[in-house]
Formats: sequence, C-alpha cells, structure tokens
Amino acid sequence: MKSPLEAPEKQVAEETSAKSAKPAASVIDTSKMSAGKAAALELAEASRDPLDERGSFASNLFIGRYDFDRIFPWPEQSAEDRAAGEDFLASLRKYLREKVDADEIDRTGEIPQENIKDLFEMGAFGVKIPKQYGGLGLSQVNYGRAAMLLGSWDANLTALVSAHQSIGVPQPLLLFGTEEQKKKYLPRVARGEISAFALTEWNAGSDPANMSLRADPTEDGTAFIMNGEKLWCTNLIKAGVLVVMAKTAPKIVNGKERKQITAFIVDVDSPGLEITYRCRFMGLRALYNGIVKFTNVRVPRENMIAKEGQGLKVALTTLNTGRLTIPAACVGLSKRLLEICRKWAGERVQWGVPIGKHSAIAGKVAEMAGNVFAMEAITFLTSALVDRKAGDLRIETAMCKMWATETTWKIADDAMQVRGGRGYETAESLAGRGEEPIAVERFLRDCRINTIFEGSSEIMRLFIAREALDPHLKVGGAIFNTQLPTSERAKAVFTSGKFYAGWYPKQWVPGGADKIDKLHPKLRGHVNYAARTSRKLARGLFHAMARFGPNLDREQLLLSRFVGIATELFAMSATCSFAQHKIDKGEPADEVLSLADYFCRSARMRIDHHFAGTAENVDKRGYLLVQDLLAGKHSSLRDGIV
Ligand SMILES: Cc1cc2nc3c(=O)[nH]c(=O)nc-3n(C[C@H](O)[C@H](O)[C@H](O)COP(=O)(O)OP(=O)(O)OC[C@H]3O[C@@H](n4cnc5c(N)ncnc54)[C@H](O)[C@@H]3O)c2cc1C
Repeated sequence: MKSPLEAPEKQVAEETSAKSAKPAASVIDTSKMSAGKAAALELAEASRDPLDERGSFASNLFIGRYDFDRIFPWPEQSAEDRAAGEDFLASLRKYLREKVDADEIDRTGEIPQENIKDLFEMGAFGVKIPKQYGGLGLSQVNYGRAAMLLGSWDANLTALVSAHQSIGVPQPLLLFGTEEQKKKYLPRVARGEISAFALTEWNAGSDPANMSLRADPTEDGTAFIMNGEKLWCTNLIKAGVLVVMAKTAPKIVNGKERKQITAFIVDVDSPGLEITYRCRFMGLRALYNGIVKFTNVRVPRENMIAKEGQGLKVALTTLNTGRLTIPAACVGLSKRLLEICRKWAGERVQWGVPIGKHSAIAGKVAEMAGNVFAMEAITFLTSALVDRKAGDLRIETAMCKMWATETTWKIADDAMQVRGGRGYETAESLAGRGEEPIAVERFLRDCRINTIFEGSSEIMRLFIAREALDPHLKVGGAIFNTQLPTSERAKAVFTSGKFYAGWYPKQWVPGGADKIDKLHPKLRGHVNYAARTSRKLARGLFHAMARFGPNLDREQLLLSRFVGIATELFAMSATCSFAQHKIDKGEPADEVLSLADYFCRSARMRIDHHFAGTAENVDKRGYLLVQDLLAGKHSSLRDGIV
C-alpha cells in the first residue's frame, strides 16, 4: 500500500529511476599525497556511493542546472501525516514545558531518570522506528518537528534523544539491518534502552581511517574479538547498546592493502566492556558522554551491520539523513532566541527609546528573523524531500547541518549582545536578584558544539566540495591521474573536450528560472537571480579547475567560497518556495514577503563577498604565514604573556 508520506507515484518514479553512476574513485590521483592523506581519501572514496545521474537540486547548482521544479511547489506535509504526529507533538510540548527544568539539568549535570522514563513512554526515543517494532512510525518531518520542540527547550535532552535515534542503533539498523537484527534490537531501543554511536578515538576524529580499535575474527569465524578504546561516545553512560566502528582485516585492492572498517552492534553488558570515564564539556553539562574500553570483547558475527568492510559506508549513509536532526533543533533554538530578543528589544529602554529602535540592535534582530525563516525553509524542505524519497539528498543535508549550526551560533552570539549584561548572567543569578531567568548564556554554551560534532563545518565543506566536483571528475579527472594508463588518460582528454564544448557555452546563456509563473513577482526576481548565479558559480568552479587542475583539492578556502555560494543559493531558493507556500496558505503576504525578501537580499550580499574572494584573496599569504608560525617563527606574538 502506498504510504501517505510518499509523493505522487510519478514523482517517486522519476526521482528514483536514475541509474547510479560509476564511482569516480579511479580518477583521483593519490600518488603524490602523503601516506596518511592517501589512505584517508581512498577509504572515504571506497565508502562513498556516487550520486546518481539526476543529482539533486543543491548538487546541480554547481553545474549550472537550476531545477526549481524539484523544490517548488513546496512539498507540503500531507494532512494525514500531520495528524499522525499531532498527539505525540502536543504531549511532548506540554511535557517539556511542565516537567523539564532545563536550568536545573544544566546546573546539576544530570537529567532526572523520571524525564527519561516518561519520554520513553511517550515514544520520544522511537519516533521514526516503525510501529511493528514498537516505535511511533512517524515521518522525518514529524521527527524534525519534535527536534525543533526539544531544541527550543533543552539541549541536553535533545542530544540524548538525537544521538540515540539519529546516529545510535535505530537509524543504521533501519537502513542496513537484517530482519533478525531489527526484530531483536528495535523494540528494545524504541521503548526502554538508550543507544549510542562509537566512532571517535584519540587519533581518529575527522579522519576515521586512523582508527585503531580492532575486531579480529575468532578461529571458528562465528564471532569477532574487540580490543581498543573509544572516546567521546554520547549517551554511553546510560546506554544499553552501542554501534561500534572497528578496524577489521585489511583487503587487497588493485595490489594495495586497503583498510577496512566494520560496524557492529555491541551490548554494553558484554564481558570485557568497561566505561572508564565520563567526559564533561563547556555546554551540554548533562551529556552522558564518555570513554569505553574493550578488552577481548566477544561480538557475535550476526551483530555485524551490513557486510565486513562497509562500516564507514554505514556511518556516512546513517549521517546523510541523521544530520537533519541538529538543524531542526537549531530552528527551535533560533526561534527561542529570536523571541527573547523580540521581547527585550521592545521593552528595554536606553537613551530614551526601546533598544530595538537603535538601528545597530534592529540590524541584529532583522538578521536573526531572516535567518530563522530561511533555516526553517531549508531544514523542512529537505525533511519533506526525505519523506518523499526524492533521490539522494546528501548535499542538502550537509548544507543544512553546516549552515544551520553556524547561523545558530551567530544568532546566539547576537542574542547575548542584545541582552547585554543580562545575556552573560546565568539564569540562576538573574532569578536570585528577582529578574526573569532567561538563559542566553546556557543556550550559547550548549549550541557551540553543533559545528564540531556529526561532521565539523570544515569536513562538511570538504564533503560538499567533493560532491560538487564529482561531475567534472567523472568527465575529466582521469586526465590528471598519473596512476592510470596513458590510453585511458588520452581517452579522457577526448571525452571531456566533447563534453565541455557543449556544456561550457551554456553557462553563459542569460536568462532566469523556468516554471515560476506561480511565484509572487517579488520572489520571482530572487529565483531568477539564483538561476543565473548558479551558472556563474559553475563557470567559476570550472575556471578554478582549469587553473589549479588536480591541486584544486588543496585550495580549501577557495572551494569553501564556492560551497558558500551554493549554500546561499539553496537557502534563497528554499526560502522563496516556502514563502509562496505560506502566502498560498493564507499567511499575511506582506509579512512573509518582507522576511523572504530581507533574507534573499542579505544572501546576495554574502554571495558577492564570496565571489570577490574567489578573484582576490590572501589565502596563500595566510597559509605561508601559518607554516612559519607553526615552525616557531614570529616569536614576538608569544611575548608578554604568562
Ligand atoms: C560533546 C561531544 C560529543 C560527541 N559525540 C560523539 C559520539 O557520540 N560518537 C562519536 O563517535 N564521536 C563523538 N564526538 C566526536 C566528534 O564527532 C569529533 O569531535 C569530531 O568528529 C571532530 O574530531 P576531533 O575533535 O578529533 O577534531 P580533529 O579531527 O582533530 O579536527 C580538529 C580541527 O581540524 C579540522 N580538520 C580536521 N581535518 C581537516 C581537514 N582534512 N581539512 C580541514 N580541516 C580539518 C576540524 O574540522 C577541526 O576544526 C563527540 C565530541 C564531542 C566534543
């Protein structure tokens, strides 16, 4: 039976019919890289599923293809799906407000067991787990709405619930688990047992290829023996079951040894497993995060998720959608901070008027408002597309994670400025002297980690840039790959010449977007701009490739500007589609348009800034300066300190 979440059959068929493309791994030359970098890259490439031929709305921006009809009209949540989540979301909202004391959780560093128990009973730990396994079986959009509620109230609970189901046992099992694994573990994690995800180690943070925790097969092959340690595992202290990434025996690929990482489900009560330390942080003071040590821990073979060697693929694919929880929580937090600033800027009088009448403060609040609107647009657009099974959305989810977490940090920073000294004061101290306990400093501390975990912003930019270059690597990457036979490289010269002779002139064709007659004229201008600018972006990227050739991947700052432009174009386009949807639903058009227009105009200014940086910058000078600094030069910069 067709699920109420799915788009019309024709759309699903179109979105999913594209054939998977051939991996482009063979066209990246790793011969001149350091051994560590080559190993990391080869492992990442081997774990990467290539984007299919159709790409996605955001990935196509990099090649100058602006398919606005893939995100417009807005993919509205069906009434049926909305209704399915309504009771749960209403109970969650009421429960948070009445029973969760976020300041007390922050102060004590503990989440009351009663809160955890009640949330389990409500189904908050099994939102997306299908009903047949004991979960609520709700959609990504409803899960996002739950994350938004949680994010607006308490970051510690958000992290507990999110690490459990976005990266812990539920998500990888739903994607890769066998029926036996699902039957055994999903009911447990839906209704009573917390799970966690253990990838990071001392020497393996952003670079999982450096992992040292081993899983060696037993002689009879029925199990693996695990030895090693994992660092910073969120939820560990309360968890009953973990997803553990381990190094398994290497494989020989093309005559070379390739590292293998495999994912396992591990019960916390397994003999030899010890939780040795609870870590504490700047924010998220009640995070149940720690170090786990494995000494000859026996893990049955049937606990392996997917095949041996597919662990990194499990982790990356899990995160492709798992990454949407943090942005949804960021929408909630940003809305709360905006609300705090709205009230304060209106009631706090200095120099004879409310501070919101001073343009320096008004500017900050305006930027917050525009960004909140756009953040909701990109996050819930992508969530709705996930529900509609609308193709491969890894670029969209990475953009949401990167943009929402960085923007929320800026919003929290500005909210502290708007609240002045009260922003810096703790809620407890404010209450102690009779003022409203508004915890801007807690929100600021808690949200800082979001740009670091589940793929840091730098790694998100590399990931997006890699996918952006993919169509070009497939066509012309082989030309520069000295590891390939000359005949193959010569063939690539011919095929890429043919491709670019057709593609490149098209990137100069003027004109805007198609199929936008149903958009308000004010929005149409922005969408036309986005269509034109995606071609300018494609030209810029092509010129950078021609200039730097195979060394382009070293130009991280340059690539980050292209990624920044595409992300702003994605946010503008999503914002316009969202705005039209709101107008069509009867929201006051002038209010909606002023928010969308403000955001799009600000985004254009940031895009101009990025383009200017692609033409003129101090990247190289800065790089050389830092290499000197690292080598011990510029000692005066160390003078005069303690
Ligand atoms: C509170 C908290 C909770 C966490 N929860 C979990 C969890 O549940 N499970 C788990 O497995 N891990 C968890 N982590 C680990 C987290 O995912 C890592 O901190 C993150 O992956 C970054 O690794 P790192 O801290 O070792 O930084 P590093 O990898 O050492 O990076 C340091 C800096 O260098 C940058 N950098 C690294 N490589 C590159 C590159 N190639 N190009 C450009 N810049 C680069 C990074 O972006 C970062 O800014 C958690 C961490 C914290 C602090």
